[in-house]
Amino acid sequence: MSTQPQLPRHDLLIDGKRLPPGTGEYSTDINPATELPIALVAQGSAADVDLAVSAARAALKVWCGLRAAERGRILYRFADLLEANQEELTALESLDAGKPLAAVRRQDMPAVIDTVRYYAGWADKINGQVVPTRPGALTYTVREPVGVVAAIVPWNFPLMIGMWKIAPALACGCTLIVKPAEITPLTALRVGELALQAGLPPGVLNIVTGKGSVVGNALVAHPGIDKVTFTGSPGVGRGIMQGAAANFKRITLELGGKSANLIFADANVDAAVRAAASGIFFNAGQVCSAGSRILAQREVYDEVVEKLAARAASIRVGDPAAPDTTMGPLVSSTQMKTVLDYVEIGKREGAIAVTGGERVGGKGYYVQPTVFANVGHEMRVSQEEIFGPVASVIRFEDEADAVRIANGTAFSLAAGVWSADIGRVHQVAAELKAGTVWINTYGHTDVRLPWGGAGDSGLGREHGDAAIDNFTEPKAIWLSLRQ
Ligand code: NAD
Repeated sequence: MSTQPQLPRHDLLIDGKRLPPGTGEYSTDINPATELPIALVAQGSAADVDLAVSAARAALKVWCGLRAAERGRILYRFADLLEANQEELTALESLDAGKPLAAVRRQDMPAVIDTVRYYAGWADKINGQVVPTRPGALTYTVREPVGVVAAIVPWNFPLMIGMWKIAPALACGCTLIVKPAEITPLTALRVGELALQAGLPPGVLNIVTGKGSVVGNALVAHPGIDKVTFTGSPGVGRGIMQGAAANFKRITLELGGKSANLIFADANVDAAVRAAASGIFFNAGQVCSAGSRILAQREVYDEVVEKLAARAASIRVGDPAAPDTTMGPLVSSTQMKTVLDYVEIGKREGAIAVTGGERVGGKGYYVQPTVFANVGHEMRVSQEEIFGPVASVIRFEDEADAVRIANGTAFSLAAGVWSADIGRVHQVAAELKAGTVWINTYGHTDVRLPWGGAGDSGLGREHGDAAIDNFTEPKAIWLSLRQ
């Protein structure tokens, strides 16, 4: 407690102002690399959510009353400010989430800025249509902003996933209340300030930090919210869907994954293993589309296991700020415990940890990159999302067997296929139950392509024009030319 007064204190951002939480309570934000406190963060309450919703409702008229091109211009300025402040945001994201600085600089920040510029370009291109119905009538459609949006964001890519929601919602003329994950709130607050600096009117983008069970719940239950866009776990997603039913809020859910990466015997095995390793170990495996099941055909199974284990063992796990670090800590002690528990579950089920499986050091939430061989399709490590650096390598016989195993979980977010046979890759891509299929590559995302899945992977799609549909309501207008 004695160190707490020196920690920076972060208030809520409501109606363009930094406000202390109604309850006066702050939580201690922890650096996952050191386990030391880095900041005190406002614990928002239902009363704070009320304030933010009122501000966002009032700002709706202002924001969608602007010329569409002016909204675009503000978004371009926002992107420029994010770019100008990218080193500060990178450092903050790395500190808060334990991500290697180099990875945030190379991947997260460019994607964040690209997302804002992409949707800035959309702002004045959200057109309706004139639809020919019958003589004597002018019938046309317009697309109106859906209204006030609650964006509930997870901790694995706080900046990037946050911006996947903020940028299209703003382009469509919506106003937002963003609730970052309680353990990674810092960059969202800074983004909110930069948006104000870019000229976003007060109340258009509000940031309410705090617990999911308090702030998240209050947002989902609030009658003044028109749409909830959520990325997170399937359990919370299910609760949001039920809560949103009360006043039929629109929802988009991006949930978990247990994505399969299929390596056929005729594939370039070295390239496949290289991509499979980054597919599961990038961001310490805390990626919804992580290729956590690596399916290798019988003829190359041993080679894949051996080469993947060698790659895993060569990953430099350590201080996120060090330039040569390729894997940082997991985000929290809870997440570390979950992952280590799954390692034990896998061993008990008969999987063999050919490398890894242990915590690294005694401080910071570091876990070794782990490769499980001898994994059966029915095992829990093959069926359940671990959300950590644990690869399960599963053997398959032929194409039908590979597709059966790949499609045999509750998830359907993404998949990969590796083969030199052009006919086979298209055939298998068609048969895979997945929102995204990568062929002879793994893990790329681009805001121009739809992103999401079905089943336990969620509902609806983000990115591209799908996000424009998510944040607008079509209206049909019928005018009689003669009375
Ligand atoms: P989580 O579901 O625990 O939390 C996500 C967000 O929901 C947080 O902001 C949290 O505070 C909030 N929340 C928690 N309880 C809530 C409630 N009752 N009502 C409203 N909001 C609530 O998930 P997490 O642990 O932060 O993230 C990991 C999960 O997210 C994994 O399952 C992962 O697969 C998934 N994920 C999916 C994608 C995707 O695009 N599909 C991307 C990243 C993460």
